[in-house]
Amino acid sequence: MAMATSPHALLLKNPNLTPLKNPNFNNPITTTNTNTRFNLTTKPISIKCAATSQTQTPIQAPLQTQSHQDRVFNFAAGPATLPEKVLLKAQSELYNWRGSGMSVMEMSHRGKEFLSIIQKAESDLRTLLNISDDYSVLFLQGGATTQFAAIPLNLVNPNDTVDFIVTGSWSDKAFKEAQKYSKPSTIWSGKSEKYTKIPSFHDLEQNPDAKFLHICANETIHGVEYKDYPSPKNGLLVADMSSNFCSKPVDVSKFGLIYAGAQKNVGPSGVTIVIIKKDLIGNAQEITPVMLDYKIHADNKSLYNTPPCYGIYMCGLVFEDLLDQGGLVEVEKKNKKKAEILYNAIDGSNGFYRCPVEKSVRSLMNVPFTLEKSELEAEFIKEAAKENMVQLKGHRSVGGMRASIYNAMPLAGVEKLVAFMKDFQARNA
Ligand code: PMP
Repeated sequence: MAMATSPHALLLKNPNLTPLKNPNFNNPITTTNTNTRFNLTTKPISIKCAATSQTQTPIQAPLQTQSHQDRVFNFAAGPATLPEKVLLKAQSELYNWRGSGMSVMEMSHRGKEFLSIIQKAESDLRTLLNISDDYSVLFLQGGATTQFAAIPLNLVNPNDTVDFIVTGSWSDKAFKEAQKYSKPSTIWSGKSEKYTKIPSFHDLEQNPDAKFLHICANETIHGVEYKDYPSPKNGLLVADMSSNFCSKPVDVSKFGLIYAGAQKNVGPSGVTIVIIKKDLIGNAQEITPVMLDYKIHADNKSLYNTPPCYGIYMCGLVFEDLLDQGGLVEVEKKNKKKAEILYNAIDGSNGFYRCPVEKSVRSLMNVPFTLEKSELEAEFIKEAAKENMVQLKGHRSVGGMRASIYNAMPLAGVEKLVAFMKDFQARNA
């Protein structure tokens, strides 16, 4: 049966609609109903579904006309706050991307428009991290969790030994998944000290035949972050950088593979970035699903199947924004400043607030803290939310509070949090 596709065919089916004579695709938000290219001439359409019936309401005013106060300071660990500039740019391009007459969400992933988007995103990321041509950059799906399996599947054989330093819940999860596809060994674990430390690498014994050493560069839940990276005597260095990706410069050439979910520092959830040395590609175990095989994705430039197009576009906007800020050297300076004022407030509170993490390895991204009077923690979180500072609750496995202060958290957000903490202390000490 032929599908009704033209506006007029649709009109025949619903005489309440009249086509816009001159649909202004660049200014869609000027009509009362922007979901279609039509003006409604009668009452809103009532849409019935199985569970409920609803009436279409006009979409909200565009963000530009809302005041900045409408946005909260979002301290969530991920998905996390995105740069306001990026959101506004995405908003302005949402309906009609750069005159293409389409939203990025509607584009073919094989069309020239999307190809230009993914290529620019890759090239900007290469500039930001100074990634050489010896490395492939892949935009994948499945989150960092999928990489916990993909890494051993691609890099080693089932009987190969691989080393893990377990500094928190995420490296522990990666270790457990690797047990299915390799023979991982934990050469250090911070579990007995509640994951508050990172070991000095010189004191560690690596397995002589280890094919790689896996680390988590920043433990999102526990707030411990490597300040410099080990150089394994045996094998390659593999790092989960999900929660500090692009927060500071990194010497990529030290690593065999770096991976990161986008949803903390560089975009929305749904995109996972893998940076892998090219000569490691092409040795996947036979059982490796096609979607986890780096060779498939590298050969097809991340377009083997439909990629998370909109997410990649958003990452591209974030990369542009990071370059505009002067690159990762400048970004790191801002991150250090934010973290410094927050840790100073905690350490200067005479024990009212406490951060359990050893000072030398405190994360610039995720700042966990507790209250000496733990019975006040729920009240702290509640009052902060009233002041438009949200998502300050610590991870359910550790409790307390956690402020995630990724790249996109403005200094003003941290200053406001610190002012609130001082006021809360004055009222409750
Ligand atoms: N590694 C780290 C360091 C993380 O913070 C997370 C998510 N919070 C993951 C891995 C898992 O990522 P995803 O949810 O994208 O699978």
